[in-house]
Amino acid sequence: MPPYDVIIIGSGPSGLTAAIYATRANLKTLVIAGQVAGGQLMLTSEVENYPGFPNGILGPELMDLWRKQAERFKADFVDDNVTKVDFRAQPFKVWVADQEYEGRTVILATGANAKYLDLPNEQRLKGRGVSACATCDGFFFKQLDVVVVGGGDTAMEESLYLSKLCKTVTVVHRRHEFRASKIMQERLLKTPNVKVVWDSEVVDVLGETKVEAVRVKNVKTGATTDLKAQGLFLAIGHSPATEVFKGQIALEKDYIILRPHDGYQTSTSADGVFAAGDVHDHRYRQAITAAGFGCMAALDAEKWLQAHE
Ligand code: NAP
Repeated sequence: MPPYDVIIIGSGPSGLTAAIYATRANLKTLVIAGQVAGGQLMLTSEVENYPGFPNGILGPELMDLWRKQAERFKADFVDDNVTKVDFRAQPFKVWVADQEYEGRTVILATGANAKYLDLPNEQRLKGRGVSACATCDGFFFKQLDVVVVGGGDTAMEESLYLSKLCKTVTVVHRRHEFRASKIMQERLLKTPNVKVVWDSEVVDVLGETKVEAVRVKNVKTGATTDLKAQGLFLAIGHSPATEVFKGQIALEKDYIILRPHDGYQTSTSADGVFAAGDVHDHRYRQAITAAGFGCMAALDAEKWLQAHE
């Protein structure tokens, strides 16, 4: 079987947008969608900031529509995980268990996952007050009390964002010093409706059908307190899904590093392999920006193929 023109790994906003652009450019396209297809939006409830949906749309519904649009132009789909890749020589090779696929170009769009704390009730209350994205979900907590966990720039940024919407924001951090940049710390500490609980870990989130309180333990005294809150926002970092690419392309702190050259803005360190979305972008991390990167990567792959006829 001749190699695919493009193999897209991942089926969140970036992967599926790349698939729409690649197939409409008549490229023979394979999408290896992953066992849990659809990406982070599959774990979200209402999405109100994706343009084109004035009344909002449920995350899984949006991804279902997105996938149908990608399938319409006849991409092949494999709903499984990539287990091995070889980007050292053309055509590139990608394996799903024992099945080998060949592609002249590859687009890496495997995304990233927010880290969670593994609390006893965390998964049960996810989408019911537990969130890992203030930009996505903050709006639902207007005039309510929320807790943010973490001491990095994301925790500062998310807390400041929430402080404009919520009645109070309590930042719980496990040490007595933030890791975040000084300027972000200063901004946070002078915001009137934000308070910090230092030296403390969140040990559980409580509530029957939605979050009602957050249980916090002081790591120095061992004392446990229940903070009344309707929201718990995790801001303890993200893990990009790059394990399978290690040793094949350049990574930094597990994120793919882009190496733009000859106009290919989405190129990785392997010529002909492109990356799109949260797998390289730890800054914006939005569905719309991931989609934009997916479009760019598909256009780059198309141009690359033309240049290497
Ligand atoms: P981060 O810098 O790795 O910070 C993670 C925070 O979560 C740390 O304070 C850490 O505590 C805490 N944490 C980690 N695991 C925990 C656990 N199991 N329990 C409790 N707390 C835990 O991650 P980030 O804030 O997402 O930032 C990632 C990168 O993006 C950084 O380089 C950051 O500067 C950058 N960023 C920049 C901006 C900006 O410039 N505006 C905005 C967001 C992110 P410890 O401090 O005790 O380790």
